[in-house]
This record gives sequence, C-alpha cells and structure tokens, in this order.
Amino acid sequence: MQEKEASSQGFLPHFQHFATQAIHVGQEPEQWTSRALVPPISLSTTFKQGAPGQHSGFEYSRSGNPTRNCLEKAVAALDGAKYCLAFASGLAATVTITHLLKAGDQIICMDDVYGGTNRYFRQVASEFGLKSSFVDCSKIKLLEAAITPETKRPLALGADICMYSATKYMNGHSDVVMGLVSVNCESLHNRLRFLQNSLGAVPSPIDCYLCNRGLKTLHVRMEKHFKNGMAVAQFLESNPCVEKVIYPGLPSHPQHELAKRQCTGCTGMVTFYIKGTLQHAEIFLKNLKLFTLAESLGGFESLVELPAIMTHASVLKSDRHVLGISDTLIRLSVGLEDEEDLLEDLDQALKAAHPPSGSHS
Ligand SMILES: *Cc1c(COP(=O)(O)O)cnc(C)c1O
Repeated sequence: MQEKEASSQGFLPHFQHFATQAIHVGQEPEQWTSRALVPPISLSTTFKQGAPGQHSGFEYSRSGNPTRNCLEKAVAALDGAKYCLAFASGLAATVTITHLLKAGDQIICMDDVYGGTNRYFRQVASEFGLKSSFVDCSKIKLLEAAITPETKRPLALGADICMYSATKYMNGHSDVVMGLVSVNCESLHNRLRFLQNSLGAVPSPIDCYLCNRGLKTLHVRMEKHFKNGMAVAQFLESNPCVEKVIYPGLPSHPQHELAKRQCTGCTGMVTFYIKGTLQHAEIFLKNLKLFTLAESLGGFESLVELPAIMTHASVLKSDRHVLGISDTLIRLSVGLEDEEDLLEDLDQALKAAHPPSGSHS
C-alpha cells in the first residue's frame, strides 16, 4: 500500500518540467473529499480502521501521514525517482541510511563533508563499529585507494540514494529542519521505509506542509539566488581586500567546466578569503548590516558565517587546515534581496576591515 502510494509514476505524464512538477505532482485536489487545492495539514496521529488491520492507507502518523505523502510524491517526481522518504532533519536521513549497514562495514565519506556529518561518523557511528574514511573525492585515485572489502558503496554507474537537507534551498524560508531521501530500487525503498518507521525520525505534518509550499517557488528562487550569487562572486573577485573567491560559476573555479556540464546554474553560496587575519575577518563580519551572522544557508535572507569557528568547529583542527578552512575563510549564503543593496553592504564592510589608505576612520 505505502509503496504504491509513494510512487510518482503515472502522474502528469505529459508535463515533465521541473517547475510544473514541483507545483502539481502529489497535490491533486481529487485526493481530498473537499477538493482542496492546497494539501491540508493532517495533524491526527492516528486513523480510524474499518476492522482490525483494515485501513485506508494510513494507520499511525509515524508510519504514514497524508501531508507527508504529498511532499514525498512531489520530491520523488523532481528527482525522477520512484520513491521519496521525508525525515526530521538532514542528519536524521543520514543516520537512517547508515542503519542499512552493520558493524564492521566501512563508509567512504568526502573529506569536506558537512561538519555535523563528520561528527556523526567520527563520534557516534564509530561507537557502533562502523569505520569511516574521509577522502578528497575530487581525486578519483584517492577514492579508489580507500576502497576495501568492507566498503559499502553504489556499484552501478549511478547513485542508489539521493539525500538532501531540505532545511536549505528546498524549504528555503529558514523555518523548517528536514531531510529527504529519494530512491528507485524497490527493495531499498522497502528497507528504508521500514527504518523510517522503526527509528522514528519523521518530520511533523506542519513541517511537511511548509516544505511542500517552499518547493512551489524553488525554481524561481534558485534563478535569483544564482543571479545574486554570481554578482557577489564577481564583485568580490575584483575587490582588492579579497584574496580569493570560491564559486563554481566563476571561470577561476577548478571545477567550473564540470559545473557547467552538470548544472543548470549555481546557488547563492559564495566563499572567499579576506586579506589579513582573523581580526580582519571579525571586523568585516561586525560591520555587515544586511548579511546576518548565522549558521545555515539556502534561505531567502542573506547570511554570513566563519566556518572555522561556526559550522566546521567540530571538524578536527588538523583536517580544517588541510581543507583550507582557515580563520579568514568567510562563507556567504546570498539571499533574494536587491543585488545593489547586497554589494553595497559587502563594500562598506570590506572597507571597514581594510580602510583605504589616506582614510583616518
Ligand atoms: C545542513 C546540511 C546537513 C544537515 O542537515 P540538517 O537538516 O541540518 O540536519 C547535512 N549535509 C549538508 C551538506 C548540509 O548542508
């Protein structure tokens, strides 16, 4: 029942473009007796059964929820996947996927992974006998060298599992923490569906509603994030107070060509090294007015953070050094504000950190 419910196949066969599917798949008014265009927030934890074991597709809200279903169907369609599963956070999705493994198995993880994932593998999963290796996966030789008989990884050409922290761009409004996982393989889906229910890290119906709503504008938001991100990256790259900018949309990025081949655009994530020391970085951060100093990314508002002290503080200091996460590395999540205002804010804060010679302020 659940498996059939979650499949996106058969919906809107003639309208396969991203924006159309994000708006319509899983949202069919006919599924509700009220014919509501916007999926209701189904708060009930339990559902009436006709006779013991005879239910209408829903029994208990942890194992399945109508509002969650709408979201899962929409995301499956966007991924071109048969199934999608929603979790209480990106990390909850990671933990649930990790439960596909057993003690003694090895995980190969990219070395510049999200700090919380690094912490989970190093400090939690290791306690359960899972081994993990952190590898620079942009170097295929290093990746191959890390593989052992205990390694569990996708063997086919394509990945088996697609995982997101929907907390970021997919919800996009900085008001939901959520994880999403898409798969095509039926047996893998069955196992993950079992684990989703058995581990219990499911999102609330209200969060599902909000994330589903966020998806409706994802395509237009990403266009503007790209446009603003590109403008900020170009501005910073030409600024004398900046040592280096890291943005895949710039020809200076080592994987610029790869990004052009694989992606239809870039995001609002722009990273740069400010010239000077930690002190210069701190003055810059203190003087920003429009960019808010906060962790996370992908929301409509512009954020700034210092990874060495904030998001990546849980990464070993020696590893941070190898990864280039120094005290002058600054990460921007460029939001949807006006481009001119964003550039003006960056300009005045850079000038505060590096007063132009001749200025006595
Ligand atoms: C945010 C993030 C996570 C964690 O997701 P949560 O929803 O915060 O649990 C994991 N990986 C990456 C790359 C992230 O950006």
